[in-house]
Amino acid sequence: MSFPTFYPDARLPGTGTSVFTVMSALAQAHGAVNLSQGFPDFGCDPDLVRLVTEALASGHNQYAPMAGHPRLRRAVSQLTAERDGGTYDPDTMVTITVGATEALASSLTACLRPGDEVILLEPAYDAYEPLVRLAGGTPVPVARTFPGYGIPWADVSAHITNRTRAILLNNPHNPTGAVCTAEDLEALAALIRDTRILVISDEAYAHITFDGRPHISVSAHPELAARAFVIGSFGKMLHVTGWKVGYCLAPAPMTDVFRQVHQFTVFATATPFQVGIAAYLETYPERVRGLGSFFQAKRDYFLTLMQGTGFEPLACEGAYFQLMRYRQRSDLGDVDFARHLTMTAGVACIPVSVFYQTSVDHGVVRFCFAKEDPTLEEAARRLRLS
Ligand code: PMP
Ligand code: GLN
Repeated sequence: MSFPTFYPDARLPGTGTSVFTVMSALAQAHGAVNLSQGFPDFGCDPDLVRLVTEALASGHNQYAPMAGHPRLRRAVSQLTAERDGGTYDPDTMVTITVGATEALASSLTACLRPGDEVILLEPAYDAYEPLVRLAGGTPVPVARTFPGYGIPWADVSAHITNRTRAILLNNPHNPTGAVCTAEDLEALAALIRDTRILVISDEAYAHITFDGRPHISVSAHPELAARAFVIGSFGKMLHVTGWKVGYCLAPAPMTDVFRQVHQFTVFATATPFQVGIAAYLETYPERVRGLGSFFQAKRDYFLTLMQGTGFEPLACEGAYFQLMRYRQRSDLGDVDFARHLTMTAGVACIPVSVFYQTSVDHGVVRFCFAKEDPTLEEAARRLRLS
């Protein structure tokens, strides 16, 4: 079909619906247990709902300040200082965003100029590549090692050119669960020391780390923090992915250019959520401390349940996804396998090849274990029967 010429050309030609939407819809259509899209199926802390409700009822219903509600900016600054050791002035270095997604989009838009290159480590979260393109940049993928998904720094170095403007890091990593070590951050710092390369550190799963591994934030590394946008997500921290509230930390001059974009694309995030989250962090600071052990227990339970299903787990150091090889069960490519599993076994997962620009298929799928125990039990039961 040909369209009239007044319709716009696609900015992202060939882009379809996100895999998370596709797989969640397929799961729903087939009554499958949905371990595909990454969101908890359990409720958040009732005190958090109460505090947001109180914010709504007490009249916090007009625009928040463009940079974010001051109480929430202060709370984020304090949380970062306590958990990570990073120092961020709430007025000049902290911005509240519409989820981590807007923080990624605004930081890329703020710092890229046409032709600038951004190094992405693949498998990469699905939004990175299109967001780099929309911001006028060129994504430069570098594959993590397989099957450990470590960062091959020599390879990263080999992809740096005089057009490289940023390296996009995701720690803990979606979809693999890989967690950066102190050595990784040192390697990154050494690599970019004498360059103009910026760091965009997507830490949406901050502090969801397992087996005694620390979450080492870029905000805690003074040399990197001096040239980094550090991004967080309350959706992940507080089990409220539907609220879409996140934040971006950066040195004041970087925050200035970030806010120039933010103020005209978004202006401000929903006020009652900001006030409610701020009140929650002020009142119950200890409740955001146990994220790692909470999700480690979920991971361990899921791994126990999955024994005898023919799936072989890969290492999972953090975030809330478990990668599994499925070769004992099928020779299908991972996209076909994920569809097949959803429709026949009634369990939905995500094929990992979609996180690569060139669809690298290692025969691995991703299961989200941020689910109630009975959900995980039912998924494993179905997989054992299929
Ligand atoms: N980055 C990563 C790595 C993610 O997995 C997600 C999805 N939660 C996001 C960013 C987006 O987070 P938000 O929902 O806060 O926009
Ligand atoms: N971050 C979530 C995941 O990886 C999905 C978010 C979305 O659907 N855009 O599953």
